[in-house]
Amino acid sequence: MTVLDARWDEKMKSPFEIGAIRPPSEAASLLVRVTRNCPWNRCAFCPVYHNAKFSIRGVDDVKQDIREMAAIARMIQDVSVSLGFEGEVTWEVRKALAARKDLVPGTAQVTSFLAQGAKHAFLQDANSIVMPTEDLLEVLAFLRETFPTIERITSYARAHSIVRKKSEDLKAICEAGLNRVHVGLESGSDRVLTLVRKGVSAEQHIEAGLRAKQAGMELSEYYMPGLGGRSLWREHAIETARVLNAIDPHFIRLRTTAIVPGTVLEDMEKLGQWEPMDDEQVIEELELLLEHLDVSSELSSDHILNLLAELQGKLPEIKPRLISTIHRFRSMSPNHRRAFILARRGGMVERLDEMQDEAAQESAMLLLESVENHYGGDLPAAVRDLMAHFV
Ligand code: SF4
Repeated sequence: MTVLDARWDEKMKSPFEIGAIRPPSEAASLLVRVTRNCPWNRCAFCPVYHNAKFSIRGVDDVKQDIREMAAIARMIQDVSVSLGFEGEVTWEVRKALAARKDLVPGTAQVTSFLAQGAKHAFLQDANSIVMPTEDLLEVLAFLRETFPTIERITSYARAHSIVRKKSEDLKAICEAGLNRVHVGLESGSDRVLTLVRKGVSAEQHIEAGLRAKQAGMELSEYYMPGLGGRSLWREHAIETARVLNAIDPHFIRLRTTAIVPGTVLEDMEKLGQWEPMDDEQVIEELELLLEHLDVSSELSSDHILNLLAELQGKLPEIKPRLISTIHRFRSMSPNHRRAFILARRGGMVERLDEMQDEAAQESAMLLLESVENHYGGDLPAAVRDLMAHFV
């Protein structure tokens, strides 16, 4: 979100509903809320929909939201034309809109969508696939009719719900436009999935992934490094690789486990039922996963929760480079590793390479010294506090 976007959104409430989250890759997508919150809402690590009641929105309400978005899009394009940009959403158009006092609420989101070519939409919230098929098809048809330039519609989807949809329904949904789904695999180990109350087995994950692909959908699987904790990390890595190998999704996205205050995971840790791993152990887990991974997926490390942003690219070709990045990290001196961890978590650097710069290295070492003083040398505690803010 830009400063201008933030200013617009602060002014008033949107006339259409917007849910709590969307993946980073959908930052410029039109957000269309078809359900509210999460129908499962029991995953031990998840703080997103805490105590929020799940509901499926009525088709007429969702259509009304889409009409509101279309009206805002027309207003933005009129501004563009009046400035001589023929409907294109340039920086000048955004600036002109931001200066106006009569902005229609929700403008920022629609502006980002238009500025990126009006090609992508994202259905919220946590599991749109649970919507009755007929209703979902009607919403998708209306969305594409209203915004004919849309090429990709994405949603989060629970494996459990995909497995329960008929194959012909999944195919119809994909043909109607929902052509990419993000599934929270989290782990391929049944023991880890049970421990964190995911409500899905490894075999259900495989079945759901294969069925989504067979229906023609692009598939993203999220994996949570560190979720097995100290006692199950090896099984977590090896079994996750096994499940991913069986599915061979289009994308694998890394989301390193963070302990968010107020979650069941935090309680489990306090009760000694789950022991967190530190960053260095998580990197060891990732190396083990990569050794066992045999897929043709695009690996993505597109979240600040992941220590090594470099761990991305097309598998299997990129694998040797990923392993060498891990080795490079592990061969750093203990103090430099600790300094990099803090600098990355503190937002001072994004990539390992940046630590070759002497000034960055010096600032990172100073940060390490001051944080270690503050936390009495307990770096994992400092990192944990920082990471809890990233979720
Ligand atoms: S299914 Fe997703 S949104 Fe729902 S509780 Fe689990 S992680 Fe959170």
